[in-house]
Amino acid sequence: MALSGEAFAGAGSTVAGVAGAPGDGRALQRLLDELGRLPGIGPKSAQRIAYYLLEADAETARRLADAILRVKEQVHFCPICFNYATREHCDVCDDPTRDRSRICVVSEPRDVQAIERTGSFHGLYHVLGGVISPMDKVGPEQLHVRELLGRLADGTVEEVILATNPDVEGETTATYLSRIIRPLGVEVTRLASGLPVGGDLEYADEVTLGRAIEARRAL
Ligand SMILES: [Zn+2]
Repeated sequence: MALSGEAFAGAGSTVAGVAGAPGDGRALQRLLDELGRLPGIGPKSAQRIAYYLLEADAETARRLADAILRVKEQVHFCPICFNYATREHCDVCDDPTRDRSRICVVSEPRDVQAIERTGSFHGLYHVLGGVISPMDKVGPEQLHVRELLGRLADGTVEEVILATNPDVEGETTATYLSRIIRPLGVEVTRLASGLPVGGDLEYADEVTLGRAIEARRAL
């Protein structure tokens, strides 16, 4: 069961040789350290993944490494809505069938995925890149608020749906945005209640989130 330190060093130097990394005999420890930094991965999970990779063939490890590198090389923020994009713009902004009179404002790209899964919204998105949080020193200047106002300037957009999380920061952000957007003559709506208060959009089930979009209320 127990592999000796030498066996690890041996396996490490093979991999390190391929990757061109220094063969300092700490390859396994480096992998454990890197895996341990990932969200939701504790030391035990890091160990389980590291052992899985050690036992897997080189091609499996290469595929994983390649997928990680590619996502960093090819995925960037859409310059219009700040969702993730693999081409110049994201798939939603590029889709000519989307309703350009409605923009759904969310805090993170993963919220776009959550709302897309409901199939209840056919407009465009705007990702703020966070929420207003004085404790974390995040104000409107740190978010993509200016860019949102820029998108409202030409009069195409008739409704802005504020779909930040139903927690304190999400509500603060929605209230702030509503206050600056309403004077522009754009209707501002908020997701209907029914979402768990203090909860995370990402984890709401599709039916609940879909209903919350359909039953959105004016602010
Ligand atoms: Zn976009």
